[in-house]
Amino acid sequence: MKEERHDVVVVGAGPAGSITAKTAAELGLDVLLIERNQEIGVPVKCAEGVSKEIEKFVALDKDWICVEVHGANIYGPDGTKVVMAGERMDEVGYVLERRIFDRALVSEAARAGAEVRVKTEAYGLIEANGYVKGVYVRSIGEDTRIYANVVVGADGVESRVGRWAGIDTRLKPSNLSVCAEFLMCNIEVNKDYSEFFLGSEIAPKGYAWVFPKGGDCANVGVGIGGDVSGETHRAIDYLNAFVRNKFPDGKPVAEMYGAVPLSGPLNETVADGLILVGDAARQVNPLTGGGITYAMQAGKIAGEVIAGAVQENNFSKLRLMEYKNRWRSAFGKRLETGLKAKEFFFGLSDADLNTLAHSLEGVKIEDLSTGALLLELIKRNPKILFGLAKIVI
Ligand SMILES: Cc1cc2nc3c(=O)[nH]c(=O)nc-3n(C[C@H](O)[C@H](O)[C@H](O)COP(=O)(O)OP(=O)(O)OC[C@H]3O[C@@H](n4cnc5c(N)ncnc54)[C@H](O)[C@@H]3O)c2cc1C
Repeated sequence: MKEERHDVVVVGAGPAGSITAKTAAELGLDVLLIERNQEIGVPVKCAEGVSKEIEKFVALDKDWICVEVHGANIYGPDGTKVVMAGERMDEVGYVLERRIFDRALVSEAARAGAEVRVKTEAYGLIEANGYVKGVYVRSIGEDTRIYANVVVGADGVESRVGRWAGIDTRLKPSNLSVCAEFLMCNIEVNKDYSEFFLGSEIAPKGYAWVFPKGGDCANVGVGIGGDVSGETHRAIDYLNAFVRNKFPDGKPVAEMYGAVPLSGPLNETVADGLILVGDAARQVNPLTGGGITYAMQAGKIAGEVIAGAVQENNFSKLRLMEYKNRWRSAFGKRLETGLKAKEFFFGLSDADLNTLAHSLEGVKIEDLSTGALLLELIKRNPKILFGLAKIVI
């Protein structure tokens, strides 16, 4: 078998892997970034909405921004509309073109000096003395043993890298949102707002979304709890019902299926010689399903920590724990609050959700993050939200 050696091998070229590779390469490391697909960012499995926070991690480029949105409309089960509009929004800001965005991030990693290899799939870890020492990869029928001081598992929701290293990455069906989405054209779209639709008949344990993509097109999708999905009531069945009702003249021009981990972040995100980032580490807001900016933030921290570890020639779990401490202090609390809020809201009936929506009807909510929305709801609905108040405050 062929052999090679690098400082770092990053498995998976989504946002988490690309930013890790770019950061580590900028800090002078020899980085290999591998991707099993033949094209970066394809197939797209995303609604493509991000907050303006993304500007902290990458310079904006009009090539990958489809639309700038200025707020969100949230519809309760009976159709009551809650308007959120302001500058500080957690999960809205831009709708991306991820095919171009993901490729742009990989290109940045490559420009920083990382070697990028597509059509290259990791299928196992090289281990010695309890340390991860590299990965086995297969590329167009050829196997290679790739040694590295640190392996980064950035292999998304289906991540196997962590599991190979003995980390429990299993997801219960109730901790997974299963999704179906159409890119639809020929529809009447609110061009400035992302829209969210709640209710057990629309999307049990989830929501439906309409994110504008420019012109008369939008990403129209439904995510439902993995534990309530079944034959004849799969995400695609709810999506078909939703578009039949809302966009009878709409034309789907693309279709995708995917899953989002809603378990909250893994407790173990490092091991000797190993770091997990992005969806592989379950760094997704369980309330909203948004993971892009967390993946990027974690990737930046991971790249910096690995560079420090290389300088000290120390790749122990204890040394790499700096990564866990830093991402936890950067956004761990937001994910934990999101998890508790998700569990709380999934327990509410449609009647409760309607009551909450009514309490905010006609109120123009400005400068709103998910946390602030929760506080506003608690203020107006102390009885229903008594349990939630204990989580948020
Ligand atoms: C339907 C849907 C809608 C979503 N909408 C939004 C949204 O609007 N906003 C938001 O912020 N987030 C959204 N998300 C979540 C978001 O897509 C993820 O959080 C984000 O892509 C995570 O980035 P990542 O780099 O960790 O993983 P990914 O982007 O999943 O990248 C992982 C990469 O690893 C590769 N890979 C896997 N295994 C191997 C292997 N063995 N060897 C080599 N390569 C491998 C994969 O091919 C993939 O390219 C959505 C997800 C879904 C499914």
